[in-house]
Amino acid sequence: MARDCTRATAPSRLPARDPIRHAFAVATPSRTGYDASMPSSAICAACGASCDADAVERAAVPCNVRRFLAESFIVWRCPRCRSLHARDDVDLDHYYRDYPFHSAEMAWVTRLFYRVLTRRLKRCGLRRDMSLLDYGCGKGLYVQFLTDRDYQRISGYDAYAPAFCDEAVLQRRYDMVFSQDVLEHVADPRELLNRFDELAQPGGRIVVGTPDASHIDLSRADFHRHSLHQPYHRHILSREALLDIARSLGWRLERWYDTPYVNTPAPFINVRSWLRYARSRDNTLDLAFEPFRPGANMLTPAALFDGLFGALRCPRADILAAFRKPQ
Ligand SMILES: [Zn+2]
Repeated sequence: MARDCTRATAPSRLPARDPIRHAFAVATPSRTGYDASMPSSAICAACGASCDADAVERAAVPCNVRRFLAESFIVWRCPRCRSLHARDDVDLDHYYRDYPFHSAEMAWVTRLFYRVLTRRLKRCGLRRDMSLLDYGCGKGLYVQFLTDRDYQRISGYDAYAPAFCDEAVLQRRYDMVFSQDVLEHVADPRELLNRFDELAQPGGRIVVGTPDASHIDLSRADFHRHSLHQPYHRHILSREALLDIARSLGWRLERWYDTPYVNTPAPFINVRSWLRYARSRDNTLDLAFEPFRPGANMLTPAALFDGLFGALRCPRADILAAFRKPQ
């Protein structure tokens, strides 16, 4: 169960080239081998640290989209804030073509995920009379889900979705700005968090869901391939970096979850079970959008244990953080 699997389309990303990445050599992924070298210095897009190339931790991460399964990409870690960064510029339009999320539909499991997500947002302060902007809403499945449940002031924005690319919604201010699985896709995460600050009205909430680099072990890059999701995730902030940026904006942390909303208590609908299922097949994200075809290895005692108790063993590699902007 990939964390992004309820998103309807490619989450928003900034089309402009990232000036930070200009310092990097542009590499074409190779099927035969990788140059894992770094430029002499690199700047962390999260904390701004200038990082010594010889000192940074790095790993080759396999792509988790079936079309590009044979490709790997170098990811490096800022030694100061522990955020993770994709090393190379790639042609993102090429990789987003036929992106698996484009085929997401409102299935029963999507509604289950959204019920979990909505429970969380209610604990973060969401009420039916509040205005909420779902920033990076894809084709708006969650916008529709909330609207159908009498949340009548829900707006969505996604620069890459024709139905939600009207920038007029960005001229308003909201009681809650919500953004799930978007921050890690953009070229400049600090700029996006600043934008959320502008979109929230004084005293409003900003709720951000994103992977947590602090709990992604690069020595186990294959295990974390779905959180790393290369080359789509350009920068994955550590929880420390996210909290530092939030502090610099004057936001107060009000609530924190360290597992994704797709990790539900329902039997077999948890991250551990999904990871086990994915590994039993081709370990790609595409599986999340295809009919479930469990093999005999999903009936082992360990698989049954994960099915029943896997939610309690979910890797802590995701954040859902709710902040309050000052009055
Ligand atoms: Zn950093």
